[in-house]
Amino acid sequence: MAIKLPIYLDYHATTPMDRRVLDEMLPYFTEDFGNAASRTHAFGWKAESAVGVARERIAKMINADKPEEIIFTSGATESDNLALKGIAEFYGDKGKHIITSRIEHKAILDSGKRLEKMGFEVTYLDVDKQGFVDPAHVRAAIRPDTILCSVMLANNEVGTVQPIREIGAVCREKGVLFHTDAVQGIGRIEFDVQSMNVDLASITAHKMYGPKGVGALYVRRSKPRVRLVSQMDGGGHERGYRSGTLNVPGIVGFGKAAEIITHEWRDEAARVSRLRDSLYKKITAELDEVFVNGPWPAIDSSGKVLRLPNNLNISFAYVEGESILMSLKNVSVSSGSACTSASLEPSYVLRALGVEEELAHTSIRFGLGRFTTEEEIEYAANLTVSSIKRLRDLSPLYEMAKEGIDLKSIAWTAH
Ligand code: PLP
Repeated sequence: MAIKLPIYLDYHATTPMDRRVLDEMLPYFTEDFGNAASRTHAFGWKAESAVGVARERIAKMINADKPEEIIFTSGATESDNLALKGIAEFYGDKGKHIITSRIEHKAILDSGKRLEKMGFEVTYLDVDKQGFVDPAHVRAAIRPDTILCSVMLANNEVGTVQPIREIGAVCREKGVLFHTDAVQGIGRIEFDVQSMNVDLASITAHKMYGPKGVGALYVRRSKPRVRLVSQMDGGGHERGYRSGTLNVPGIVGFGKAAEIITHEWRDEAARVSRLRDSLYKKITAELDEVFVNGPWPAIDSSGKVLRLPNNLNISFAYVEGESILMSLKNVSVSSGSACTSASLEPSYVLRALGVEEELAHTSIRFGLGRFTTEEEIEYAANLTVSSIKRLRDLSPLYEMAKEGIDLKSIAWTAH
């Protein structure tokens, strides 16, 4: 069968919606269009009941105690903001110190910055060369005035799976609330808010084969009971935590996506990690001077998963990430360089891992997922190998390195 181009390998950015999700959503746009807050008629009741089913499915997916612990939002950016700012506002009298890591999503880092302007103090923990936060560093950073620790379940660029269970245990022991941005890990690795001692968790539907623009914040209601101040004033929806008319079709789709994950994630993760490993093998069999960013191998000798099964982030020394993207036009991936207004800066995540600037500029993130096929991986691997070979043939730096010249010893002059 002819392969359909371009191939999508950017599943960390967003995922296509599963057909089964769409099918369940469709009636809620047309005939079942009621407002879930309309208490006086059948249209409202039907919408409210559909939202209830979704809440239950999402709670079950993460092993929450009660469906009411799920608060619907517009996505994980909002959930991250609500978690940090809502907790800071509620517990600010108790303490003004928050702990997080340097490689969190901007929704966390920038919320932290905002809170710093409001008089809070934020500790940004360093990570090791593979991107791990050390639970001992969390313990050491906790102070009497620490109210919250936020560490992501898995990183969106390099796929590092954090020791959430261990960090959760430290926070619980010390009486510090623990939030995790679980966006990238949901449906790919194990996630259980009970056994991991998670008090708050951000989730988004569009990274788990659901629709865009809908997400949730899990907020534990007992042992301990977590309180927060809503950041959106209005009609008092979601028990006052998040005002705004509920996106009923989106929430229905989110619920269906959660149900599919609960039943299918293990098989899917195993299949996707086999494809990812074969992509790695094909690339490294043909190319030298390639470096994996983040933990590798992806699973340690005891079987512990260190890296998301769908992630491969590789630096191809001596070729610019942007030129690789251009020559991989038929394979949709992303590079480790983030475009800022005027310059191309390497990603702050790779920098935090200690990846040298030159290598960081040559990095490509492959993100696989539910609909990735063997044929697509074969195609992507072949195109990557031929593109890198061609670009290196044009690269004087690669030629010099192959001749044994130490590039660092060269004093470049500008004319
Ligand atoms: N957190 C992480 C780790 C992410 O990867 C993303 C997606 O870019 C977000 C938060 C933001 O999610 P949303 O697009 O739902 O606002």
